Amino acid sequence: MTLGSGVKVVLTASATEMSDYFNNPFVAFVAGFAKGPFPSWFLRRVIYPPIERDYDRRAKYAPYGLRKVEALLLGNGFSESEVAVVHPTDLDAFIGSNTKVVGISSMDPTGMGYVSKTYSSLVGGGESMNAIEFQRLIRHRSIRTFKPKVVVGGFGSWQLERKKVADSYGVDCVLIGGETETIVDIFRRAVNGERLPRVVRAEISREDSAQESVPLIRHAAIHGAVEISKGCGRNCQFCTPTMQRKVDVPLDRIMKEVEITTTERSSSITLVTEDLFLYGAKSKQFTPNKKAVLKLVKSVADHPGVEGIQPSHMSLAPVVCNPGMVKEVAEVLIEHNWYFHGKKAIVTSETGVETGSVRLMRKYMAGKMLPYKPDQWREIVAQAFGILNDNDWYPLATLIVGLPEESEEDVAETLELMDDLRDFNAFYVPLFFVPLENCLLMHKKGAEIDSLSKIRWELFIRCWEYNVRIWRDTFLEHRIRNPRIFNAVKTILIPFAAKTAGIYYGLKHGEQMRQALWKMATA
Ligand code: SF4
Repeated sequence: MTLGSGVKVVLTASATEMSDYFNNPFVAFVAGFAKGPFPSWFLRRVIYPPIERDYDRRAKYAPYGLRKVEALLLGNGFSESEVAVVHPTDLDAFIGSNTKVVGISSMDPTGMGYVSKTYSSLVGGGESMNAIEFQRLIRHRSIRTFKPKVVVGGFGSWQLERKKVADSYGVDCVLIGGETETIVDIFRRAVNGERLPRVVRAEISREDSAQESVPLIRHAAIHGAVEISKGCGRNCQFCTPTMQRKVDVPLDRIMKEVEITTTERSSSITLVTEDLFLYGAKSKQFTPNKKAVLKLVKSVADHPGVEGIQPSHMSLAPVVCNPGMVKEVAEVLIEHNWYFHGKKAIVTSETGVETGSVRLMRKYMAGKMLPYKPDQWREIVAQAFGILNDNDWYPLATLIVGLPEESEEDVAETLELMDDLRDFNAFYVPLFFVPLENCLLMHKKGAEIDSLSKIRWELFIRCWEYNVRIWRDTFLEHRIRNPRIFNAVKTILIPFAAKTAGIYYGLKHGEQMRQALWKMATA
């Protein structure tokens, strides 16, 4: 039922992006998995429940990018009553005859992201939850009934173009990039009923992105996201758009967004960055600026109302460069931890290990380990993991399988690296190479499950074997309090489920998959 005749501008995202995953940012990657036989209502209940609403049914929290668009419109002549940020299940209440435009932000609208490409095919094929929920949103009956203009932006909007589905989805304009004037112009034209260009490429310069032209958020983002830097500058060729030079958001702007976030009763802050440890660093050799990093982390930690802090990403070379910095930062973050391992408070952030192959490091990511050399990569990874673990910091590490021209020897080197990491605590996410938009490798062929050789399967298995060994008990302990049930699940239910799944996936992907599941269950 529409409240009145609708709001002029409605901003939203699919159900998988309008959830806090029970306050667990890292679980969001599960939305890249195929949905399997589970109905959407069930998944919305157990994996991605709708974000809290305010008294007027507007979303209390929303993806950071959507919050930025909202702020941009509010700073350019639109009023709060003309712009509503809402969960897709509430669209009926906000879209009506007065609605001129629906702006949708999406990270992965067609399931072409790394996780979707990898895990949807591994768990049996079919579309990812991300893709299914996006289709459900774009075909919402209120959009079909009232026919407002539909503008899709966000990090994954390029996928609509690449897959050529924008027209069939009824999208009027695909907005690629975040240049502020262009975004405002598109929304103004939509509100005036003008015809919109089908695709707009509005790449923002790094300098602009962190500065005054991008307004501060007006309301809190999901997981208390606050951006502290953009870009990276290490030039990994599979990465987009972080090939570009890094720009730090000034501390006073960061703290204003922290203030806005805590005022709206979010006690958690996610520091959004490609590399926490390089905040404030100016060196061309990527040596960290310990003083700036500590000042940032302490300022956020000392802000009234902040209880949890989660840095989104880090790189490993600065850890080896300055272990003292890691120790001091960890001391602050442990006091504001978001995660536990068993009963121990831990810190975690995502980091790219990518490969153990020196040849591939040299070829595609020669800047990743600066100020060190590509042939030191394996040593750096192991050393960094040691330093991090000594400070109760357990990384979430991604690895890439199937980079262009990757040979069996390259994968063997990655397996050797995994051997080096055997005794550390981390969470490993092996991913297929995907040629993302705007990266140097965008015209190369992505990896597919059908072309996985034995040794690549082995790498997948090894990573998940480690994960099960390191995290299974913690996962169960946090969900099952009764020790007898805990033991029964661990020793009977999981092996039984693994055996059953092994028969199904064994038939689908071959004997290796069956063995993999069994190995994981008994790790
Ligand atoms: S270090 Fe990470 S963020 Fe930076 S370019 Fe490489 S992959 Fe991208």
